[in-house]
Amino acid sequence: MNEDPLPPIARSPFGEIFDAMGRSANGGIVLPRCGDCGAWIYPVQNFCRRCLGENLHEERIAEALGTLVSWTRLQTSLEPWFRDRMPWDIGLVRLDAGPNVIAHLGEGLERRIGERARVVTVKDAADRCVFVALDPSRDVPGGRTLMLEDFVVAASPMTRDEAAD
Ligand SMILES: [Zn+2]
Repeated sequence: MNEDPLPPIARSPFGEIFDAMGRSANGGIVLPRCGDCGAWIYPVQNFCRRCLGENLHEERIAEALGTLVSWTRLQTSLEPWFRDRMPWDIGLVRLDAGPNVIAHLGEGLERRIGERARVVTVKDAADRCVFVALDPSRDVPGGRTLMLEDFVVAASPMTRDEAAD
């Protein structure tokens, strides 16, 4: 067998909902939103974290802008797909709309706490929706499915370290 490994696909029932919503994100992100108090719900769940209401609907944030509040560089992974692509950067972005979301960090983002980022929904190699955080000035092509590897290019550790300086 010589099949390439895929990213992990194990998801909770809420992960499946997240995945279904992501298919209509078209360059933005789609999250549940509370119809009573307006809060955006992430991680996905079936009641509002602010008012405990259950009156939720899906809504698209066309320009999901936010601020990078934390990030880390993974050096190893138990997942074969990621292990072949180390190091790998992930971060926490506080969206202007309210929720904090975890995203893969795209090429071009400086990885500086406090920097502005745009979060978009992309598909990974396992056909699952994930978030990627990008430099807000970066062009995001519309009208087609965006792929994680369009924005996060696996590089040698030396290239990555030089880029981080
Ligand atoms: Zn609410």
